[in-house]
Amino acid sequence: MQFISKLPSPSEIKAQYSIDEKDALVKKERDQEIKDVFTGKDSRFILVIGPCSADNEDSVLEYLSRLKVVADKVKDKIIIIPRIYTNKPRTLGVGYKGMLYSPDPKQNPNIIKGLISIRKLHHRALKDYGFSSADEMLYPQNHSYLDDLLSYVAVGARSVEDQQHRLVASGVDLPVGMKNPTSGDLDVMMNAIYAAQQEQVFEYRGWECASQGNPYAHAILRGYQDKFQQSLANYHYEDLMSLFNLYQESNLQNPALIVDTNHANSNKNYLEQIRITKEILHSCRLSDDIRQLVKGLMIESYLEDGAQKIGENTFGKSITDPCLGWEKSERLIYEIAEAL
Ligand code: PEP
Ligand code: MN
Repeated sequence: MQFISKLPSPSEIKAQYSIDEKDALVKKERDQEIKDVFTGKDSRFILVIGPCSADNEDSVLEYLSRLKVVADKVKDKIIIIPRIYTNKPRTLGVGYKGMLYSPDPKQNPNIIKGLISIRKLHHRALKDYGFSSADEMLYPQNHSYLDDLLSYVAVGARSVEDQQHRLVASGVDLPVGMKNPTSGDLDVMMNAIYAAQQEQVFEYRGWECASQGNPYAHAILRGYQDKFQQSLANYHYEDLMSLFNLYQESNLQNPALIVDTNHANSNKNYLEQIRITKEILHSCRLSDDIRQLVKGLMIESYLEDGAQKIGENTFGKSITDPCLGWEKSERLIYEIAEAL
């Protein structure tokens, strides 16, 4: 292994892109509102919505400018949390790994530039649009670069069985969604929620740390693959009831679920996200237990429908998983608000 360069610390980068008191207050209020949804104090619906990967500052900010207009209109029913995913897990460990690695997807990785770019993007989301956002905690040690800007954190399907992710999640003062693993084993996800809800002592960025446990750790169902690599959904009525029952049998605090409508739930047929959303809302109407459990949805959405290869250069079109384009996404958000 070659040590290329020493990276700036979170406090060094935070000093460069620091948030002012006004923005800190916006985030604090949003954090509280979002936590209140997870504890059941607030009955609004959460929508974590945005591109699979935040690959380009300009197109993500354009997306946020449109999303802001819609978010203000539906705010009595829906709390919108933009998905600004700046680091991407790869099944084979190769390919585009997100803005953290490649601030310019066409160039070689540059993690120093990447750390600054992801901070700058999340900072602008808060400063310019009042959005504290969601990101995936792919590398737990990097959480401190963004912890004053995020309002929601997800642990991905490939990370959810990892001890360090679970321990760090126990010390994150935000709702952390634990995805079901790619195999679909719900025990792995429930165990991750359990571990994150406990007091823990662990190692983090060269420190011995202690956490009080995260009562807002919860489930995300994203579908799964069987041993023949066939995608199987887990958003149907029976799946939601099964999770409700698993929670009933557990001693976990704040039973809660976010349903991811893309990935193995849609088999990456991004247009299916519309139908899947409507089916979940229907299940919520059929069962009060399900309505209590389902706190919201995660939708992959961008300016343009579908996906493209790196280098194709259509502004606002995903370079990772295919996303629902803006017009359809906007319509869907209004339909969700009407259905609630
Ligand atoms: C994603 O959210 O884009 C993602 C990679 O999710 P998962 O961990 O469910 O595969
Ligand atoms: Mn994705």
